[in-house]
Amino acid sequence: MARVQSAAMRDGLLQRFLRYVRVDTQSDETSKTFPSTRGQLVLLEMLKQELNELGAADVQMTKHGYVIASIPANTRKTRVPTVAFLAHVDTAPDCSGKNVKPIVHRKYNRRVIKFPDKPGLTLDPATSPELRTAVGKDIVTASGTTLLGSDDKSGVAVVMTLVERLLRETKRKHGLIRVCFTPDEEIGRGVSKLDLRMLGADVAYTLDGGAPGEICWETFSGDSAEVTIDGITTHTMEARAKGMVNAAYLAGKLLVALPRERCAPETTEERDGFIHPMSVEGRTERTTVKFILRDFELKGLAAKRDILRGLCRGLQATEPRARVRCKIRKQYRNMAYWLRKDMRPVELAREAFAAVGLKPYDHVIRGGTDGSRLTELGLPTPNLFCGEHNAHGPLEWVAVQDMESAVTACIYLAELWGRKG
Ligand SMILES: [Zn+2]
Repeated sequence: MARVQSAAMRDGLLQRFLRYVRVDTQSDETSKTFPSTRGQLVLLEMLKQELNELGAADVQMTKHGYVIASIPANTRKTRVPTVAFLAHVDTAPDCSGKNVKPIVHRKYNRRVIKFPDKPGLTLDPATSPELRTAVGKDIVTASGTTLLGSDDKSGVAVVMTLVERLLRETKRKHGLIRVCFTPDEEIGRGVSKLDLRMLGADVAYTLDGGAPGEICWETFSGDSAEVTIDGITTHTMEARAKGMVNAAYLAGKLLVALPRERCAPETTEERDGFIHPMSVEGRTERTTVKFILRDFELKGLAAKRDILRGLCRGLQATEPRARVRCKIRKQYRNMAYWLRKDMRPVELAREAFAAVGLKPYDHVIRGGTDGSRLTELGLPTPNLFCGEHNAHGPLEWVAVQDMESAVTACIYLAELWGRKG
């Protein structure tokens, strides 16, 4: 049975969440600073202060803005693994996060939700069927013109409430717990400046997932590629005589040659990977095409690199006067490669979820998480649910009771780890 929480407790979590979503923390991939935007530091400062007020130990903000704190161990066992819980403070660049006006819809009853700031926009169980799981719950949405920022302020509110509860409920025995709030996850830089020795955890969880019970421990592996095509520019009136080579045309040829029917995000699903041209920029003289390459298996990813390199070589051969370069960079790797060697972090999460009345289920992510990188670096980090739905757009919503379930599940998870050692 799920444990029943008092209204005051739920409101504590809700008030926290409403406070966080009002801060504009949109990240910016064109920024050269870290964190990429000022707004994220505003929220990170707030979180640091809140951790101090709650009585967390070792509260600190690193020079890059990561906010880290401890809940000291209260078990007599001496070799209990240190568990970290992480959530990211930034919101996606895809949709405005400025002046978010959260609206609480108490006791949801299958109705179609309308938005005061955008007449015509509706959140409808017909097109968002997950709403049916929220009947009777309290739902939060934005007002129509912005995202809500539940991705990942739900996770932030869950982790902060976890701190409050573990510090108060001293009868719950656990080892050292570390919490960490990170910036810039949405632009793929979330853990690039995080010092893992400073974090000092043996296992970690990101709270950045969907419906109650969800556990993600498999992600894509990802590479990025940049193809630069140098042509020859002349005045158009003497282009034929002077031998113009139009790089823009060549970029078009490259795009047409891609195996789009079986290898694009819009033509694949489930476990199939893809090659996706993200942007094309240029002119006659030089055109640059940026790609992302994705696959669950390293072999599949290597095959996609070969396809792209092969197409570039072919293009070069058909037009020797041009110069075609293809630069491929590693981004992140499927966390399952490491987790399969030791499934305890996943198994204990499943056990904790079941113990608090949730049905654990695996969700394979067609993307990466901060945990993909952390796991590769040696810190196993599956991702757990915190109630996010319709992320990155104005129809985003979260149920307060789902966030509360995540808190309850994480408390139990901390206790389960506390029995090890
Ligand atoms: Zn997220």
